[in-house]
Amino acid sequence: MGKISRRSFLRDSLILTGSSLLLSSKYSEPSKKPALDGKEKRKYPSYLELEEKGILSQRIEKLYSVFENCNLCPRDCRVDRTKGETGKCKATSKVKVSSAFPHFGEERPLVGKRGSGTIFFSNCGMRCVFCQNYEISIEGEGVEISDERLATMMITLQNMGCHNINLVTPSHYVPNIVFALQKAIRRGLSIPLVYNCAPYETPETLQLLDGIVDIYLPDCKFMDPEHAAKYSGQTYNYPYYVKIALKEMHRQVGILQVSGRGIAVRGLMIRHLILPNNLASTDKFIKFVAENFPKNTYLNLMAQYRPEYKAFDYPELSRRLKRSEYIQAIQLARKYGLNRLDV
Ligand code: SF4
Repeated sequence: MGKISRRSFLRDSLILTGSSLLLSSKYSEPSKKPALDGKEKRKYPSYLELEEKGILSQRIEKLYSVFENCNLCPRDCRVDRTKGETGKCKATSKVKVSSAFPHFGEERPLVGKRGSGTIFFSNCGMRCVFCQNYEISIEGEGVEISDERLATMMITLQNMGCHNINLVTPSHYVPNIVFALQKAIRRGLSIPLVYNCAPYETPETLQLLDGIVDIYLPDCKFMDPEHAAKYSGQTYNYPYYVKIALKEMHRQVGILQVSGRGIAVRGLMIRHLILPNNLASTDKFIKFVAENFPKNTYLNLMAQYRPEYKAFDYPELSRRLKRSEYIQAIQLARKYGLNRLDV
């Protein structure tokens, strides 16, 4: 799954689903309640318990205070985003969204029959030279909205029947997301949150998401600091933080659990974008997963890389993946005993 690039899917979806309605102030929520799977509703999502115990409000307070001296991600910019200052991600404390719609191009356990309720956030702390969504993530295409409006998007996606709320590139807006979540819970939100990230995350931010996120969907790129620095805006520490992040995510949610209908309800779903010429150190990454997580950890080895944005400035990145490179990765994962591959 995930064989269609997000950018091309996004372009098509804007036409097909009328996602711009979700950004329009004229939009009114459908009154129809979703037909939720009873089993999912009983057990998950876990954020309901945090709200019941009053813990969610404490988390919101802590997270919003981070905006004043921002270290939400390992960039550690220390800017005051509440005063309009921006760091590497170029985001202020006002959340900016590019689009929201039921996505049918994600992994099967997320999509089911009714789609994954995807919200694409603008801006990003990574700055990858090959980014397929660079207009959104690097150029900041999107619309600034209130946290209340973000809550409305969540409710709307649920009312459209989506199986989850899929937060794409959420890291720099975690305070807004959790605040919006609380508002949405109070309006009846009851489907799991999918945290679909780089995952260039600090352990501190992830710990504040413990019990809030049920499904982590980290898209892991580099295992070599030099490659991370060269192709993703000087992120030498990317491999270091990714390893810690994956372990923390697994500690929180464990391996992927699905409902009787095969829909993801909780767990870690790892993605790895294979780059040409082994620039993502795919061999090292597979070894890391095999040695640190159960063999039935969900792993999607993604073959859809194609040169975009500034990738043509780097000859080693300026071609698609060869079939032999993909097969080699799959064979290696199998050799290590990983038995839950998305192929
Ligand atoms: S979220 Fe943005 S401003 Fe904050 S540390 Fe990361 S890149 Fe810097």
